[in-house]
Amino acid sequence: GIMENPLIKPAALENTHQDGPHPQAEEPYYLPFGDEVSIFTQCHRRHLAVMLKGPTGCGKTRFVEHMAWRMKRPLIIVSCHDDLTAADLVGRFLIRDNATIWQDGPLTRAVRVGAICYLDEVVEARQDAVVVIHPLTDYRRVLPIDKTGELIEATPGFQLVISYNPGYQHVTKDLKPSTRQRFVALDFDFPPPEREAEIVIHESGAQPAVAYDLVALGGRIRGLADRGLAEVPSTRLLVATARLIANGIPPRLACHVALVSPLSDDPALVAAMRDLVDATLLD
Ligand code: ADP
Repeated sequence: GIMENPLIKPAALENTHQDGPHPQAEEPYYLPFGDEVSIFTQCHRRHLAVMLKGPTGCGKTRFVEHMAWRMKRPLIIVSCHDDLTAADLVGRFLIRDNATIWQDGPLTRAVRVGAICYLDEVVEARQDAVVVIHPLTDYRRVLPIDKTGELIEATPGFQLVISYNPGYQHVTKDLKPSTRQRFVALDFDFPPPEREAEIVIHESGAQPAVAYDLVALGGRIRGLADRGLAEVPSTRLLVATARLIANGIPPRLACHVALVSPLSDDPALVAAMRDLVDATLLD
């Protein structure tokens, strides 16, 4: 087969995954919105793969971190992108000291150690990468590695979790029905105001009054989706803004740099958002 350039690939691989949190780490804070904790727990026990549907920044990653902690399993996260290939997930041959060695990819490591493997935005990945997960989602729970001829049976505790942002994908990029049907789907969305404020307070250390203002503002800006705002403010953006304010940045300035400007370059939309900031904040 073709050898990969050993100088480039290990670094590239490091960017595609991260390990953690460790099973014994502190509980990741997660505020549930419904039955998702008990449903996920059952899926984990019954060896069912799970799909988390919902917009960016609404708590999907945090939920998986929390569930990995509850299930006492290591968590391996892979952020998928449009260059991500099957080899990036499964592994590849590298040349080290004139010898050819096999290096497991993050999915293979997860299968071997019985980790929860979270493929974030899996629809972005190339089709060959999406296809390698199929045999892991049926009753066999195996990962065939073509390049080495290995067929690895998933260690108990292994679980595949993918995320998917329904509104976001290009029409040409969608999960195939044959892939979708392999998952139990949990629907995520931005939390109702009371809960979102609770999250913002917990995550930022901001005063409750600040959090409530930001959540109200976030709700109003989300209303601009009808007027062409492609990306609406996520809970993550509200948390970031609240952190700046909690650390002494004046609220209006914090909103402009952390909330308004990241969302759009369109002068009319920016002006509309700034008006909402001025109308909402009482500083
Ligand atoms: P996603 O994976 O959906 O893009 P994240 O899980 O990274 O989003 O959420 C972004 C941030 O929002 C988190 O780091 C956390 O601070 C906060 N957050 C959102 N929803 C929740 C929740 N239900 N409980 C706790 N924190 C949350």
